[in-house]
Amino acid sequence: MSQLIFERSVPFRRAVRFDACDVPEVGLDEKYVRQSKARLPEVSEVDIVRHYMELSRYSFGVDNGFYPLGSCTMKYNPKLNEFTASLEGFTSIHPDQSLSTVSGTLELMDNLSISLSEITGMDAFTLQPAAGAHGEFTGLLLIRAYHNARNDNKRTKVIVPDSSHGTNPASASMAGYTVVSVPSNEMGGVDVEALKAVLNDEIAALMLTNPNTLGLFDPNICEISKLVHDIGGLLYYDGANLNAIMGTARPGDMGFDVVHLNLHKTFSTPHGGGGPGSGPVGVKSCLVPYLPHGTLIKETYGYRYIDERDTLSIGRMRSYYGNFLVNVRAYTYILSLGSDGLKAASQNAVLNANYMMNALKDTFPVAYPQTCMHEFVVSLADLKKETGISAKDICKALLDYQMHPPTMYFPLIVHEALMIEPTETESKESMDYFIQVLKDLKQLAYDDPQKILNAPYTTPVKRVDDVQAARNPILKFQHK
Ligand SMILES: *Cc1c(COP(=O)(O)O)cnc(C)c1O
Repeated sequence: MSQLIFERSVPFRRAVRFDACDVPEVGLDEKYVRQSKARLPEVSEVDIVRHYMELSRYSFGVDNGFYPLGSCTMKYNPKLNEFTASLEGFTSIHPDQSLSTVSGTLELMDNLSISLSEITGMDAFTLQPAAGAHGEFTGLLLIRAYHNARNDNKRTKVIVPDSSHGTNPASASMAGYTVVSVPSNEMGGVDVEALKAVLNDEIAALMLTNPNTLGLFDPNICEISKLVHDIGGLLYYDGANLNAIMGTARPGDMGFDVVHLNLHKTFSTPHGGGGPGSGPVGVKSCLVPYLPHGTLIKETYGYRYIDERDTLSIGRMRSYYGNFLVNVRAYTYILSLGSDGLKAASQNAVLNANYMMNALKDTFPVAYPQTCMHEFVVSLADLKKETGISAKDICKALLDYQMHPPTMYFPLIVHEALMIEPTETESKESMDYFIQVLKDLKQLAYDDPQKILNAPYTTPVKRVDDVQAARNPILKFQHK
Protein backbone atom coordinates (compact mmCIF):
# COMPACT_ATOMS: atom_id res chain seq x y z
CA MET A 1 0.00 0.00 0.00
CA SER A 2 1.05 3.57 -0.52
CA GLN A 3 2.22 5.96 2.17
CA LEU A 4 -0.05 8.34 3.97
CA ILE A 5 0.53 11.98 3.14
CA PHE A 6 1.93 12.34 6.68
CA GLU A 7 4.45 9.59 6.01
CA ARG A 8 5.70 11.55 3.02
CA SER A 9 6.20 14.60 5.23
CA VAL A 10 9.74 15.98 5.75
CA PRO A 11 10.31 18.91 8.16
CA PHE A 12 10.38 22.31 6.38
CA ARG A 13 9.58 20.88 2.95
CA ARG A 14 7.07 23.16 1.20
CA ALA A 15 5.02 23.32 -1.99
CA VAL A 16 4.76 27.13 -1.84
CA ARG A 17 6.94 29.74 -0.17
CA PHE A 18 5.64 33.21 0.39
CA ASP A 19 7.69 36.37 -0.04
CA ALA A 20 8.60 38.23 3.11
CA CYS A 21 5.63 40.22 4.41
CA ASP A 22 5.74 43.80 3.08
CA VAL A 23 2.64 45.16 4.80
CA PRO A 24 2.17 45.92 8.52
CA GLU A 25 1.45 42.79 10.54
CA VAL A 26 -1.94 42.59 12.22
CA GLY A 27 -2.01 40.64 15.48
CA LEU A 28 -4.90 38.33 16.29
CA ASP A 29 -6.56 38.44 19.66
CA GLU A 30 -4.76 35.87 21.85
CA LYS A 31 -7.97 33.89 22.39
CA TYR A 32 -8.16 33.10 18.67
CA VAL A 33 -4.58 31.94 18.42
CA ARG A 34 -3.91 28.22 18.24
CA GLN A 35 -2.16 26.85 21.32
CA SER A 36 -0.15 24.19 19.53
CA LYS A 37 1.16 24.01 15.99
CA ALA A 38 -1.30 22.70 13.38
CA ARG A 39 -0.46 19.14 12.42
CA LEU A 40 0.07 19.48 8.69
CA PRO A 41 2.10 17.37 6.31
CA GLU A 42 5.19 19.16 5.01
CA VAL A 43 5.43 18.16 1.39
CA SER A 44 6.40 19.51 -2.01
CA GLU A 45 3.98 20.01 -4.88
CA VAL A 46 5.15 16.85 -6.61
CA ASP A 47 4.62 14.85 -3.40
CA ILE A 48 1.01 16.07 -3.26
CA VAL A 49 0.36 15.33 -6.91
CA ARG A 50 1.81 11.82 -6.64
CA HIS A 51 -0.12 11.16 -3.45
CA TYR A 52 -3.48 11.99 -5.00
CA MET A 53 -2.69 10.34 -8.31
CA GLU A 54 -1.87 7.17 -6.41
CA LEU A 55 -5.09 7.34 -4.40
CA SER A 56 -7.07 7.86 -7.59
CA ARG A 57 -5.64 4.64 -9.01
CA TYR A 58 -7.12 2.75 -6.06
CA SER A 59 -10.65 3.68 -6.90
CA PHE A 60 -12.71 2.60 -9.86
CA GLY A 61 -15.20 4.77 -11.68
CA VAL A 62 -17.09 4.78 -14.94
CA ASP A 63 -14.19 6.76 -16.44
CA ASN A 64 -12.00 3.69 -15.82
CA GLY A 65 -14.21 1.05 -17.35
CA PHE A 66 -17.50 -0.84 -17.56
CA TYR A 67 -19.61 -0.40 -14.43
CA PRO A 68 -22.84 -2.42 -14.76
CA LEU A 69 -23.96 -1.87 -11.15
CA GLY A 70 -27.68 -2.61 -11.37
CA SER A 71 -30.10 -0.03 -9.95
CA CYS A 72 -27.30 2.54 -9.75
CA THR A 73 -27.28 3.70 -13.40
CA MET A 74 -23.54 4.24 -13.68
CA LYS A 75 -23.79 5.97 -17.04
CA TYR A 76 -20.96 8.04 -18.42
CA ASN A 77 -20.98 11.63 -17.16
CA PRO A 78 -20.36 13.93 -20.13
CA LYS A 79 -17.48 16.34 -19.51
CA LEU A 80 -19.62 19.20 -20.83
CA ASN A 81 -21.44 18.99 -17.47
CA GLU A 82 -18.15 19.68 -15.72
CA PHE A 83 -17.57 22.76 -17.85
CA THR A 84 -20.88 24.38 -16.91
CA ALA A 85 -20.52 23.33 -13.26
CA SER A 86 -17.18 25.14 -13.12
CA LEU A 87 -18.47 28.48 -14.44
CA GLU A 88 -17.51 31.19 -11.98
CA GLY A 89 -21.03 32.58 -11.70
CA PHE A 90 -22.08 29.25 -10.22
CA THR A 91 -19.01 28.46 -8.13
CA SER A 92 -18.43 31.86 -6.50
CA ILE A 93 -21.78 32.46 -4.83
CA HIS A 94 -22.71 32.27 -1.17
CA PRO A 95 -25.98 30.97 0.29
CA ASP A 96 -26.48 34.13 2.33
CA GLN A 97 -26.23 36.42 -0.69
CA SER A 98 -29.35 38.45 -1.43
CA LEU A 99 -31.57 36.53 -3.85
CA SER A 100 -31.59 39.53 -6.19
CA THR A 101 -27.85 38.97 -6.84
CA VAL A 102 -28.20 35.32 -7.86
CA SER A 103 -31.08 35.50 -10.29
CA GLY A 104 -29.31 33.36 -12.90
CA THR A 105 -28.82 30.59 -10.38
CA LEU A 106 -32.44 30.78 -9.28
CA GLU A 107 -33.60 30.72 -12.86
CA LEU A 108 -31.55 27.59 -13.49
CA MET A 109 -33.15 25.92 -10.45
CA ASP A 110 -36.59 26.96 -11.61
CA ASN A 111 -35.97 25.76 -15.16
CA LEU A 112 -34.64 22.45 -13.87
CA SER A 113 -37.75 22.03 -11.71
CA ILE A 114 -39.96 22.76 -14.72
CA SER A 115 -38.07 20.26 -16.89
CA LEU A 116 -38.30 17.56 -14.22
CA SER A 117 -42.04 18.25 -13.83
CA GLU A 118 -42.48 17.81 -17.55
CA ILE A 119 -40.39 14.63 -17.68
CA THR A 120 -42.28 13.02 -14.77
CA GLY A 121 -45.77 14.50 -15.22
CA MET A 122 -45.80 16.22 -11.84
CA ASP A 123 -46.96 19.75 -10.92
CA ALA A 124 -44.03 21.04 -8.86
CA PHE A 125 -40.58 20.03 -7.64
CA THR A 126 -38.42 20.75 -4.65
CA LEU A 127 -34.67 20.50 -5.14
CA GLN A 128 -34.09 20.30 -1.39
CA PRO A 129 -33.41 16.57 -0.85
CA ALA A 130 -29.75 15.66 -1.05
CA ALA A 131 -30.16 12.11 -2.42
CA GLY A 132 -32.73 9.48 -3.27
CA ALA A 133 -33.18 8.16 0.26
CA HIS A 134 -33.53 11.73 1.55
CA GLY A 135 -36.15 12.30 -1.15
CA GLU A 136 -38.08 9.24 0.03
CA PHE A 137 -38.06 10.57 3.59
CA THR A 138 -39.17 14.02 2.36
CA GLY A 139 -41.92 12.51 0.21
CA LEU A 140 -43.27 10.45 3.08
CA LEU A 141 -43.35 13.50 5.37
CA LEU A 142 -45.32 15.29 2.64
CA ILE A 143 -47.76 12.39 2.53
CA ARG A 144 -48.11 12.44 6.31
CA ALA A 145 -48.69 16.21 6.32
CA TYR A 146 -51.38 15.76 3.66
CA HIS A 147 -53.29 13.13 5.65
CA ASN A 148 -52.88 15.05 8.91
CA ALA A 149 -54.20 18.26 7.37
CA ARG A 150 -57.36 16.33 6.50
CA ASN A 151 -57.57 14.96 10.08
CA ASP A 152 -57.10 11.52 8.58
CA ASN A 153 -54.89 10.29 11.42
CA LYS A 154 -55.61 6.57 11.24
CA ARG A 155 -53.15 6.06 8.41
CA THR A 156 -50.09 4.54 10.07
CA LYS A 157 -48.93 2.07 7.43
CA VAL A 158 -46.97 2.19 4.19
CA ILE A 159 -46.99 -0.68 1.70
CA VAL A 160 -43.73 -1.73 0.08
CA PRO A 161 -43.25 -4.67 -2.35
CA ASP A 162 -40.77 -7.39 -1.41
CA SER A 163 -38.60 -6.47 -4.40
CA SER A 164 -38.11 -2.90 -3.16
CA HIS A 165 -34.83 -1.16 -2.48
CA GLY A 166 -33.87 -1.27 1.19
CA THR A 167 -34.16 2.49 1.50
CA ASN A 168 -37.95 2.29 0.93
CA PRO A 169 -38.88 0.44 4.13
CA ALA A 170 -36.14 2.33 5.98
CA SER A 171 -37.54 5.74 4.94
CA ALA A 172 -41.09 4.68 5.75
CA SER A 173 -40.11 3.63 9.21
CA MET A 174 -38.03 6.76 9.76
CA ALA A 175 -41.11 8.78 8.84
CA GLY A 176 -42.97 6.98 11.62
CA TYR A 177 -44.86 4.43 9.54
CA THR A 178 -45.25 0.70 9.97
CA VAL A 179 -44.08 -1.15 6.88
CA VAL A 180 -46.38 -3.68 5.21
CA SER A 181 -44.63 -5.89 2.66
CA VAL A 182 -46.49 -7.28 -0.37
CA PRO A 183 -45.12 -10.25 -2.32
CA SER A 184 -44.28 -10.27 -6.02
CA ASN A 185 -46.28 -12.42 -8.44
CA GLU A 186 -44.73 -15.01 -10.74
CA MET A 187 -44.11 -12.31 -13.35
CA GLY A 188 -42.05 -10.23 -10.91
CA GLY A 189 -44.68 -7.52 -10.49
CA VAL A 190 -46.88 -6.63 -7.51
CA ASP A 191 -49.23 -9.48 -6.59
CA VAL A 192 -52.49 -7.54 -7.00
CA GLU A 193 -54.61 -9.99 -4.99
CA ALA A 194 -52.12 -9.83 -2.11
CA LEU A 195 -52.20 -6.04 -2.37
CA LYS A 196 -56.00 -5.96 -2.15
CA ALA A 197 -55.78 -8.05 1.00
CA VAL A 198 -53.73 -5.40 2.84
CA LEU A 199 -55.56 -2.30 1.59
CA ASN A 200 -57.67 -0.50 4.17
CA ASP A 201 -58.13 2.93 5.74
CA GLU A 202 -54.90 2.59 7.75
CA ILE A 203 -52.75 2.74 4.62
CA ALA A 204 -51.05 6.09 4.06
CA ALA A 205 -49.25 5.17 0.86
CA LEU A 206 -47.80 2.56 -1.46
CA MET A 207 -44.15 2.99 -2.46
CA LEU A 208 -43.27 1.54 -5.83
CA THR A 209 -40.32 1.44 -8.19
CA ASN A 210 -41.50 1.00 -11.77
CA PRO A 211 -39.74 -0.57 -13.56
CA ASN A 212 -38.87 -2.39 -10.37
CA THR A 213 -35.53 -3.70 -9.15
CA LEU A 214 -35.94 -6.79 -11.35
CA GLY A 215 -35.92 -4.43 -14.34
CA LEU A 216 -39.58 -5.18 -15.06
CA PHE A 217 -42.32 -2.68 -15.81
CA ASP A 218 -45.47 -3.51 -13.87
CA PRO A 219 -48.27 -3.76 -16.45
CA ASN A 220 -50.90 -3.52 -13.69
CA ILE A 221 -49.80 -0.09 -12.57
CA CYS A 222 -53.05 1.70 -13.47
CA GLU A 223 -55.12 -0.86 -11.59
CA ILE A 224 -52.72 -0.69 -8.63
CA SER A 225 -52.91 3.08 -8.43
CA LYS A 226 -56.69 3.05 -8.64
CA LEU A 227 -56.90 0.48 -5.84
CA VAL A 228 -54.66 2.57 -3.57
CA HIS A 229 -56.45 5.84 -4.35
CA ASP A 230 -59.83 4.21 -3.78
CA ILE A 231 -58.96 3.51 -0.14
CA GLY A 232 -57.63 7.08 0.29
CA GLY A 233 -53.91 6.25 0.08
CA LEU A 234 -51.30 8.07 -1.98
CA LEU A 235 -48.72 6.64 -4.39
CA TYR A 236 -45.01 7.20 -4.00
CA TYR A 237 -42.74 6.63 -7.01
CA ASP A 238 -39.14 5.66 -6.37
CA GLY A 239 -37.61 7.22 -9.48
CA ALA A 240 -34.22 5.51 -9.29
CA ASN A 241 -35.13 3.54 -12.42
CA LEU A 242 -36.36 6.47 -14.51
CA ASN A 243 -33.53 5.76 -16.94
CA ALA A 244 -35.74 3.05 -18.44
CA ILE A 245 -38.74 5.21 -19.34
CA MET A 246 -37.68 8.85 -19.83
CA GLY A 247 -39.60 10.40 -22.68
CA THR A 248 -41.86 7.35 -23.05
CA ALA A 249 -43.91 7.06 -19.85
CA ARG A 250 -44.46 9.39 -16.90
CA PRO A 251 -45.09 8.43 -13.27
CA GLY A 252 -47.55 11.33 -13.00
CA ASP A 253 -49.66 9.75 -15.75
CA MET A 254 -49.54 6.35 -14.01
CA GLY A 255 -51.23 7.89 -10.98
CA PHE A 256 -48.26 8.62 -8.71
CA ASP A 257 -48.65 11.59 -6.35
CA VAL A 258 -45.01 11.95 -5.25
CA VAL A 259 -41.78 11.00 -7.02
CA HIS A 260 -38.14 11.32 -6.20
CA LEU A 261 -35.49 11.30 -8.88
CA ASN A 262 -31.83 10.49 -8.46
CA LEU A 263 -30.16 13.17 -10.59
CA HIS A 264 -26.87 11.41 -9.91
CA LYS A 265 -28.22 8.31 -11.64
CA THR A 266 -30.54 9.18 -14.51
CA PHE A 267 -29.22 12.64 -15.20
CA SER A 268 -25.55 11.78 -15.49
CA THR A 269 -23.85 13.42 -12.56
CA PRO A 270 -20.94 11.61 -10.93
CA HIS A 271 -21.80 9.41 -7.96
CA GLY A 272 -20.42 6.66 -5.83
CA GLY A 273 -18.04 7.20 -2.98
CA GLY A 274 -20.54 9.22 -1.02
CA GLY A 275 -21.79 12.07 -3.12
CA PRO A 276 -22.77 14.79 -3.47
CA GLY A 277 -25.98 13.67 -5.12
CA SER A 278 -29.38 15.22 -5.60
CA GLY A 279 -32.78 13.67 -4.94
CA PRO A 280 -35.42 16.22 -5.98
CA VAL A 281 -39.02 15.43 -5.14
CA GLY A 282 -41.93 16.12 -7.47
CA VAL A 283 -45.53 16.33 -6.31
CA LYS A 284 -49.04 16.65 -7.63
CA SER A 285 -50.80 19.91 -6.79
CA CYS A 286 -52.55 18.45 -3.70
CA LEU A 287 -49.14 18.22 -1.98
CA VAL A 288 -47.68 21.60 -3.01
CA PRO A 289 -48.72 23.40 0.23
CA TYR A 290 -46.52 21.05 2.28
CA LEU A 291 -43.25 21.41 0.35
CA PRO A 292 -40.18 21.93 2.58
CA HIS A 293 -38.51 25.17 3.59
CA GLY A 294 -35.92 26.24 1.07
CA THR A 295 -38.01 25.18 -1.91
CA LEU A 296 -37.90 27.88 -4.57
CA ILE A 297 -41.20 29.42 -5.61
CA LYS A 298 -41.81 31.96 -8.33
CA GLU A 299 -43.84 35.03 -7.51
CA THR A 300 -44.86 37.96 -9.67
CA TYR A 301 -41.70 39.95 -8.86
CA GLY A 302 -39.13 37.20 -8.66
CA TYR A 303 -38.31 34.19 -6.56
CA ARG A 304 -38.52 33.40 -2.87
CA TYR A 305 -37.90 30.36 -0.69
CA ILE A 306 -40.66 28.60 1.21
CA ASP A 307 -40.11 29.46 4.89
CA GLU A 308 -41.87 29.96 8.24
CA ARG A 309 -44.56 32.07 6.56
CA ASP A 310 -45.77 28.91 4.84
CA THR A 311 -47.37 27.30 7.85
CA LEU A 312 -48.38 24.05 6.15
CA SER A 313 -44.80 23.28 5.08
CA ILE A 314 -43.16 20.17 6.53
CA GLY A 315 -40.28 22.49 7.50
CA ARG A 316 -36.59 22.35 6.86
CA MET A 317 -35.09 19.14 5.45
CA ARG A 318 -31.52 20.40 5.33
CA SER A 319 -29.43 23.55 5.25
CA TYR A 320 -28.59 25.32 2.00
CA TYR A 321 -28.02 23.96 -1.50
CA GLY A 322 -24.50 22.63 -1.02
CA ASN A 323 -25.12 20.20 -3.88
CA PHE A 324 -26.22 22.95 -6.27
CA LEU A 325 -23.56 22.07 -8.84
CA VAL A 326 -25.11 18.61 -9.20
CA ASN A 327 -28.23 20.42 -10.36
CA VAL A 328 -26.19 22.45 -12.85
CA ARG A 329 -24.78 19.22 -14.30
CA ALA A 330 -28.21 17.62 -14.53
CA TYR A 331 -29.70 20.68 -16.20
CA THR A 332 -26.82 20.76 -18.67
CA TYR A 333 -27.48 17.12 -19.45
CA ILE A 334 -31.19 17.73 -20.03
CA LEU A 335 -30.55 20.72 -22.32
CA SER A 336 -27.76 19.04 -24.26
CA LEU A 337 -29.83 15.92 -24.98
CA GLY A 338 -33.18 17.64 -25.46
CA SER A 339 -36.45 15.74 -25.29
CA ASP A 340 -35.59 13.48 -28.24
CA GLY A 341 -32.18 12.74 -26.79
CA LEU A 342 -33.53 11.82 -23.37
CA LYS A 343 -36.00 9.45 -24.96
CA ALA A 344 -33.26 7.91 -27.10
CA ALA A 345 -31.06 7.49 -24.01
CA SER A 346 -33.77 5.43 -22.31
CA GLN A 347 -34.49 3.41 -25.43
CA ASN A 348 -30.82 2.55 -25.84
CA ALA A 349 -30.51 1.66 -22.16
CA VAL A 350 -33.36 -0.81 -22.61
CA LEU A 351 -31.90 -2.15 -25.86
CA ASN A 352 -28.48 -2.70 -24.26
CA ALA A 353 -29.98 -4.53 -21.28
CA ASN A 354 -32.00 -6.83 -23.51
CA TYR A 355 -28.97 -7.49 -25.70
CA MET A 356 -26.95 -8.57 -22.67
CA MET A 357 -29.79 -10.56 -21.14
CA ASN A 358 -30.23 -12.58 -24.31
CA ALA A 359 -26.49 -13.11 -24.70
CA LEU A 360 -26.18 -14.37 -21.11
CA LYS A 361 -29.39 -16.32 -20.62
CA ASP A 362 -27.81 -19.67 -21.61
CA THR A 363 -24.90 -19.07 -19.23
CA PHE A 364 -26.84 -18.06 -16.13
CA PRO A 365 -30.63 -18.41 -15.73
CA VAL A 366 -32.46 -15.09 -15.89
CA ALA A 367 -34.69 -14.71 -12.83
CA TYR A 368 -37.67 -13.41 -14.83
CA PRO A 369 -36.98 -14.08 -18.48
CA GLN A 370 -39.52 -11.81 -20.17
CA THR A 371 -38.29 -8.72 -22.07
CA CYS A 372 -36.62 -6.47 -19.53
CA MET A 373 -36.31 -2.72 -19.22
CA HIS A 374 -32.94 -1.13 -18.41
CA GLU A 375 -31.60 -3.96 -16.22
CA PHE A 376 -32.07 -7.65 -15.50
CA VAL A 377 -31.26 -10.16 -12.80
CA VAL A 378 -29.53 -13.52 -13.28
CA SER A 379 -29.17 -16.23 -10.64
CA LEU A 380 -25.94 -18.11 -9.96
CA ALA A 381 -27.66 -20.54 -7.56
CA ASP A 382 -27.05 -23.52 -9.90
CA LEU A 383 -23.39 -22.63 -10.31
CA LYS A 384 -22.98 -22.42 -6.55
CA LYS A 385 -24.65 -25.79 -6.06
CA GLU A 386 -22.50 -27.48 -8.70
CA THR A 387 -19.11 -25.83 -8.10
CA GLY A 388 -19.23 -24.03 -4.76
CA ILE A 389 -18.47 -20.77 -6.58
CA SER A 390 -20.86 -18.03 -5.48
CA ALA A 391 -22.02 -14.80 -7.07
CA LYS A 392 -19.58 -12.99 -4.79
CA ASP A 393 -16.66 -15.13 -6.00
CA ILE A 394 -17.49 -14.34 -9.61
CA CYS A 395 -17.67 -10.63 -8.73
CA LYS A 396 -14.24 -10.77 -7.08
CA ALA A 397 -12.82 -12.47 -10.17
CA LEU A 398 -14.31 -9.80 -12.45
CA LEU A 399 -12.12 -7.19 -10.76
CA ASP A 400 -9.07 -8.59 -12.53
CA TYR A 401 -10.63 -7.63 -15.86
CA GLN A 402 -10.85 -3.90 -15.06
CA MET A 403 -14.62 -4.03 -14.78
CA HIS A 404 -16.83 -3.22 -11.84
CA PRO A 405 -19.02 -6.13 -10.76
CA PRO A 406 -22.79 -5.96 -11.10
CA THR A 407 -24.96 -5.44 -8.03
CA MET A 408 -25.02 -8.72 -6.13
CA TYR A 409 -27.45 -10.40 -3.72
CA PHE A 410 -30.14 -7.89 -4.64
CA PRO A 411 -33.09 -7.95 -5.01
CA LEU A 412 -33.39 -10.26 -2.04
CA ILE A 413 -36.04 -12.43 -3.68
CA VAL A 414 -33.51 -13.93 -6.15
CA HIS A 415 -30.87 -16.35 -4.81
CA GLU A 416 -27.23 -15.69 -5.75
CA ALA A 417 -28.45 -12.69 -7.72
CA LEU A 418 -26.42 -10.56 -10.09
CA MET A 419 -28.28 -7.47 -11.24
CA ILE A 420 -26.84 -6.10 -14.45
CA GLU A 421 -27.44 -2.60 -15.82
CA PRO A 422 -25.24 -1.67 -18.78
CA THR A 423 -26.78 1.82 -19.39
CA GLU A 424 -27.02 3.46 -22.80
CA THR A 425 -23.48 4.80 -22.79
CA GLU A 426 -21.75 1.43 -23.26
CA SER A 427 -20.70 0.16 -26.66
CA LYS A 428 -21.47 -3.28 -28.04
CA GLU A 429 -17.75 -4.08 -27.72
CA SER A 430 -17.59 -3.40 -24.00
CA MET A 431 -20.78 -5.41 -23.39
CA ASP A 432 -19.44 -8.29 -25.52
CA TYR A 433 -16.22 -8.31 -23.51
CA PHE A 434 -18.12 -8.51 -20.23
CA ILE A 435 -20.34 -11.29 -21.58
CA GLN A 436 -17.28 -13.29 -22.72
CA VAL A 437 -15.52 -12.83 -19.37
CA LEU A 438 -18.60 -14.09 -17.49
CA LYS A 439 -18.76 -17.14 -19.76
CA ASP A 440 -15.05 -17.83 -19.25
CA LEU A 441 -15.39 -17.47 -15.48
CA LYS A 442 -18.26 -19.91 -15.44
CA GLN A 443 -16.07 -22.45 -17.26
CA LEU A 444 -13.23 -21.76 -14.84
CA ALA A 445 -15.58 -22.42 -11.92
CA TYR A 446 -15.83 -26.03 -13.14
CA ASP A 447 -12.19 -26.42 -14.23
CA ASP A 448 -10.23 -24.70 -11.47
CA PRO A 449 -12.49 -23.25 -8.76
CA GLN A 450 -9.56 -22.46 -6.46
CA LYS A 451 -8.30 -19.95 -9.01
CA ILE A 452 -11.55 -18.02 -8.62
CA LEU A 453 -11.61 -18.38 -4.84
CA ASN A 454 -8.24 -16.59 -4.64
CA ALA A 455 -9.20 -13.71 -6.96
CA PRO A 456 -8.69 -10.82 -7.33
CA TYR A 457 -5.00 -10.93 -8.16
CA THR A 458 -4.35 -7.49 -9.62
CA THR A 459 -6.09 -5.04 -7.28
CA PRO A 460 -4.31 -3.01 -4.56
CA VAL A 461 -6.26 -4.98 -1.93
CA LYS A 462 -6.56 -8.70 -2.65
CA ARG A 463 -9.25 -11.03 -1.34
CA VAL A 464 -10.19 -9.84 2.13
CA ASP A 465 -11.13 -12.13 4.96
CA ASP A 466 -14.77 -11.15 5.56
CA VAL A 467 -15.03 -13.07 8.80
CA GLN A 468 -11.88 -11.54 10.29
CA ALA A 469 -12.98 -8.10 9.12
CA ALA A 470 -16.32 -8.50 10.88
CA ARG A 471 -14.99 -10.15 14.07
CA ASN A 472 -11.77 -8.19 14.56
CA PRO A 473 -12.18 -4.93 12.70
CA ILE A 474 -9.17 -2.61 12.65
CA LEU A 475 -10.85 0.74 12.41
CA LYS A 476 -7.88 3.05 12.53
CA PHE A 477 -4.63 3.37 10.65
CA GLN A 478 -1.73 1.56 12.28
CA HIS A 479 1.86 2.43 11.48
CA LYS A 480 3.86 -0.55 10.34
C1 LIG B 1 -30.23 4.22 -5.50
C2 LIG B 1 -31.59 3.84 -5.13
C3 LIG B 1 -32.24 4.46 -4.05
C4 LIG B 1 -31.54 5.41 -3.08
O1 LIG B 1 -31.00 6.52 -3.68
P1 LIG B 1 -29.71 7.29 -3.10
O2 LIG B 1 -29.58 8.45 -3.99
O3 LIG B 1 -28.57 6.32 -3.16
O4 LIG B 1 -30.04 7.67 -1.68
C5 LIG B 1 -33.57 4.14 -3.82
N1 LIG B 1 -34.20 3.23 -4.58
C6 LIG B 1 -33.61 2.59 -5.60
C7 LIG B 1 -34.39 1.59 -6.43
C8 LIG B 1 -32.27 2.86 -5.91
O5 LIG B 1 -31.67 2.23 -6.92
